[in-house]
Amino acid sequence: MDKVRVRFAPSPTGPLHIGGVRTALYTYLIAKKTGGAFVLRIEDTDQNRYVTGAEEYIIKALEWCGISPDEGPHVGGDYGPYRQSERKDIYNKHAKQLVEQGKAYYAFDTADEIEKMRERLSEEGQHAPKYDYSSRMSMRNSLTLSEAETKKLLKESDDVIIRLKVQPNEEIIVHDIIRGEVRFNSSELDDKVLLKADGMPTYHMANIVDDHLMEITHVIRGEEWLPSTAHHVLLYRAFKWEDTMPKFAHLSLLLKPNGKGKLSKRDGAKFGFPVFPLAWRGESEEDSFKGFKDYGFDPEATVNFLAFLGWNPGTEQEIFSMKELAEAFSLDQIVKSGARFDIDKAKWYNQQYIINKDNKEIAQYLKKYNAEKYSNVDLDYLEKVAELMKERVELYSDFYEKGKFFFEEVREYEEKMIRKKWKDHRPEKFNRFTGVLTEKDFTASKIKLALESYMADNEMGYGDIMPFLRLAVSGTMQGPDLFKAMEVIGKERVLKRLEEAFNRFNNIVSEK
Ligand code: GLU
Repeated sequence: MDKVRVRFAPSPTGPLHIGGVRTALYTYLIAKKTGGAFVLRIEDTDQNRYVTGAEEYIIKALEWCGISPDEGPHVGGDYGPYRQSERKDIYNKHAKQLVEQGKAYYAFDTADEIEKMRERLSEEGQHAPKYDYSSRMSMRNSLTLSEAETKKLLKESDDVIIRLKVQPNEEIIVHDIIRGEVRFNSSELDDKVLLKADGMPTYHMANIVDDHLMEITHVIRGEEWLPSTAHHVLLYRAFKWEDTMPKFAHLSLLLKPNGKGKLSKRDGAKFGFPVFPLAWRGESEEDSFKGFKDYGFDPEATVNFLAFLGWNPGTEQEIFSMKELAEAFSLDQIVKSGARFDIDKAKWYNQQYIINKDNKEIAQYLKKYNAEKYSNVDLDYLEKVAELMKERVELYSDFYEKGKFFFEEVREYEEKMIRKKWKDHRPEKFNRFTGVLTEKDFTASKIKLALESYMADNEMGYGDIMPFLRLAVSGTMQGPDLFKAMEVIGKERVLKRLEEAFNRFNNIVSEK
């Protein structure tokens, strides 16, 4: 494949959904594979839907995933500006050029007049009437008004709309890389607005002009844009840019975990998993979301997971670094059907990445992850926790949840075992054991030896003492190698825990 120029063109209308991240990822991969350019273009021409902070969010989210644009509003480039709101003059010029060539026209109708036209044609039996070849000649536009009148209206008002003059009965064939041939007939299409009354272009207009001027070779985007492509092809024709028209690849939707319906932003809260890469603070609680990052996902694992949502390399290999993905990726291996958003698979990826990381790297991530809450915990300590816990977690957050006892004193104990067995074991014996530990070097092997000799002296088996020791140190019956954990937590803290726990155990039993 030749070098490509591809773009990711989000609208800053809110946080970037994980499906959008997947689109960005596929676009990025194809750029990297061919040594081409990945362009970030912000499509902010719809001022009603503009949300402050969204562009920043998009840039940060891509950055977190390791997707770095070669060109974009924040990095510049030869084809800028990369924010559409800064390119108004360009669209204006191009729209007027189409009017001059008779391929577009000025429209002066009010919303009310358009509504009336729809009602009238509905009554006449037309199904879903629109502003198109069949109705335009009954409307107020530069095709129906005299030149003088048009000029007068243009002078009077800034609120002028330009519409594309769509000729009926033209066949439009889109050769989609994923979907194959998709056909449209121009008679079904309306005379799309190109320039709006506020002087801004519509998505269609800006998108086409920019893809052309930015020399985009491939358009990779969600399948919801496939119907728009018909108008886009007509625009390329109108501008006589058909020869350099980009190739299209429309990605299928991400589906809910049960495979039924489109994954929506509300599904995150509903199913208890993230559907955004990073956290987003919206105006209301309902509009605020936690991201993959906050849930404790690793960015590389997230990327690997996303790559496989709708693509596979055709081999058994599942773990791919970004570099390997770029080498293996190809647009024709993207699947046509919707991809089920399987969060368990995401966790599986995360687990694989954590297991395979070295402890230092995990420690650094953990430090950042909980920088505020555990600011006093140092990297050395985290590295030791990583070593003991990495095979027992799926998410970074699990280090702090399943391994909470490494960071906080134990306040609660799983009580079942205590209630059942503690009484039979003569608490004073444990207190004596604590005494023995006080004198020892606090390494895992020394603790183990001390315990074993103590057990022999007191005619106790592992089963008599280990569960209580484990509960005292960690509060739970599950966990990593106990002696190693004790060494990491340290003598002073462990002894204190034992003492406190044994007293509590006595209380728990007597509460019965
Ligand atoms: N601005 C559109 C969006 O928000 C871009 C669609 C396209 O890539 O053409 O998804």
